[in-house]
Amino acid sequence: MGVTLDLSRAAAQPLAAQKPNLSGMTRAELAACLVELGVVRPEKAKMRASQLWRWMHHYGVVEFEKMTDVAKETRAALAEVCTISRPEVVERQVSKDGTRKWLIRMAPGIEVETVYIPDVGRAGALCVSSQVGCTLNCTFCHTGTQALVRNLTAAEIVAQVQVARDDLGEWPSPKEDRRLSNIVFMGMGEPLYNLDNVAAAIDIIADNEGIAISRRRITVSTSGVVPQLKDLGERTQAMLAISLHATNDELREKLVPLNRKYPIAELMDAIRAYPGLSNSKRVTFEYVMLKGVNDSPAEAKALVQLLKGIPAKINLIPFNPWPGSEYQCSDWGTIERFAAVLNRAGYASPIRTPRGRDILAACGQLKSESEKLRASARRKIEQAG
Ligand code: SAH
Ligand code: SF4
Repeated sequence: MGVTLDLSRAAAQPLAAQKPNLSGMTRAELAACLVELGVVRPEKAKMRASQLWRWMHHYGVVEFEKMTDVAKETRAALAEVCTISRPEVVERQVSKDGTRKWLIRMAPGIEVETVYIPDVGRAGALCVSSQVGCTLNCTFCHTGTQALVRNLTAAEIVAQVQVARDDLGEWPSPKEDRRLSNIVFMGMGEPLYNLDNVAAAIDIIADNEGIAISRRRITVSTSGVVPQLKDLGERTQAMLAISLHATNDELREKLVPLNRKYPIAELMDAIRAYPGLSNSKRVTFEYVMLKGVNDSPAEAKALVQLLKGIPAKINLIPFNPWPGSEYQCSDWGTIERFAAVLNRAGYASPIRTPRGRDILAACGQLKSESEKLRASARRKIEQAG
């Protein structure tokens, strides 16, 4: 997953008169904002907020006009002082296998990529970003080469879901048989370094009278920020995914430098204590397959040992190379042998099939490609001018 920054255009965009955008506010913020704007009396705020909430998050409307059970004068008053708007989709790509990728401009110079990955049947997962850039420097991750620009707000995280729903034509929010059935925080950034906004976004996304994607279908992936794990579980009740990638501290420190601060034993203790952990609510362990680095059968056995007693699923991720990366993806046979060890220990189909490769919608690849495309577009404009 990646993010493209193009600060050169920031200056060219005039800042529009800023009316508050109701679209990504929590229920409490929405009620308070309506009162502050003077469009609703305090005693009516909660009721009016619920009404707008349903229009915005269940029906997906972006115009007050469409809110037919709101009085005409109120609709006009609302439109005067606030908006319901989506960020601009700068680029949209659809892969042969149905994977979709959007480049979304949140603000001048702040662009985020979001990917929809279809699963079996109609279901599919949306991979969302929580930060622009990342402060951690995992050596196999392209995001890790980019400095943190800023945390995304809750509204910007929710907007990624709304944009995907718009494009998939999935409003009003269906009760079942959904195309966008799951959300994974596996895009850019470390969600546990932006927990307040991630938790607020999950509250909005999971709200039953709106987008209504259940917390059990929302997975937060972390490189292992141990002190935040308990809070994550208590505040969001989301499913947990841990980017493990190695079974001993020496190697994990090289791959995920955060391991120096929170070594494997401490991480495992915190995972065992994750609120709500059970056989029906397992932790997913992500393990990126790096040729000759972490892919031996002995390491597969060590992984099985390490996870003993933890209700767990394992996701083997074929490494996605990026220009300048120092690793290669393990051979397919090596990945299969690694998976066979895990299978024998009772972990079913742990290999994550690469999706959307033709549109470079895989982790660590997006940023470079969109930067390349945009650089070539810029050159064309320069040549034409
Ligand atoms: N920061 C969080 C979530 C974003 S990364 C985390 O690290 O968990 C989501 C997943 O993609 C992580 O498991 C990460 O290790 C993996 N990933 C990053 N770069 C990759 C690459 N080039 N190839 C394969 N997986 C990668
Ligand atoms: Fe950040 Fe996750 Fe990439 Fe590590 S793998 S650099 S934590 S986005």
